[in-house]
Amino acid sequence: MANEIYLSLVSPVCNEEPSLKELYAKIKKALGAIDKKSEIIFVDDGSSDNSFRLLRELAANDDGVKIVRFIRNYGQTAALAAGFDLAQGEVIIQMDADLQDDPEDIPRFLEKINEGYDLVVGWRKNRQDRYLTKTLPSKIANAIISRITKVKLHDYGSPMKAYRSGILKNISLYGEMHRFIPAYMAWHGAKIIEIEATHHARQFGQTKYTLWKTFKVILDVITVKFLLNYINRPMHFFGGAGFFALAASFLTLAAALILKFGYQFNLNRNPLLLISVFLAIVGVMFILLGLLAEILVRVYFAAQNKQSYIVKEKINL
Ligand code: UDP
Ligand code: MG
Repeated sequence: MANEIYLSLVSPVCNEEPSLKELYAKIKKALGAIDKKSEIIFVDDGSSDNSFRLLRELAANDDGVKIVRFIRNYGQTAALAAGFDLAQGEVIIQMDADLQDDPEDIPRFLEKINEGYDLVVGWRKNRQDRYLTKTLPSKIANAIISRITKVKLHDYGSPMKAYRSGILKNISLYGEMHRFIPAYMAWHGAKIIEIEATHHARQFGQTKYTLWKTFKVILDVITVKFLLNYINRPMHFFGGAGFFALAASFLTLAAALILKFGYQFNLNRNPLLLISVFLAIVGVMFILLGLLAEILVRVYFAAQNKQSYIVKEKINL
């Protein structure tokens, strides 16, 4: 048992050459203080500097360092997904490679996991980033995401998080969805807690994200909301919209008929008739879309061999 890996540290790396050595030393120090076996997984997300060479050197001297190198840059979500897939630990900790987070926080995250939480989210309370282009937009985005997903967190984008690996491994990450992992995990019933995390200003290199990111995040939240609420029953979403359009169509038609028979207002001169026809078509389309979505969802679950549920424990099986 003692030989099984307990903790996997996953860090996405994209052109972070200047910080890697120090990062490694700090992580090593923090992990050394835990008397359980751990591994460090660096995912080189198509770096164009010397990051990979440096990582390879680290791995040559330490077989607890594992490296995945992408053929090109796929983005932070893909990098994290690769790391999570390969992680063997019971607990997975994610942190950035730019030393903005502090490996010294690791024990505090583990403490919460040991208390029984499935996800510990770092909150960069004293965030050391540009206020106007990063901290403020992020505050707004966090408020919106918290409201819409009903999972209230101060810092969805926090780079430092600890997970119990079971639920995490059941979540497929696409696009730039890593920020929404807490919402997905909550939906799966995870116990989540937020703790304050240290945050340093970026010392080396530069940020890979701009203000535009915040807008993309807000678009993503619509997708996430849909996926979380309707992935198992898309017909309820599209069908609902369809019925609404059909009802509106009947009302408009009724109004047009009342105008004709009550007030001698000819149907062929009444735009309400056209609107009614239009709404009827839209309504039928929505319902057909819902059917298509139902078929797609079945294909999705079958093709990926995915269950629509996660089992927590089995006894005598
Ligand atoms: N990163 C990555 N691929 C990308 C962009 C970023 O692997 O396409 C990594 C990057 O090396 C860093 C982390 O993701 O370890 C967060 O990036 P960054 O520090 O630029 O974001 P910020 O902290 O400024 O939001
Ligand atoms: Mg950073």
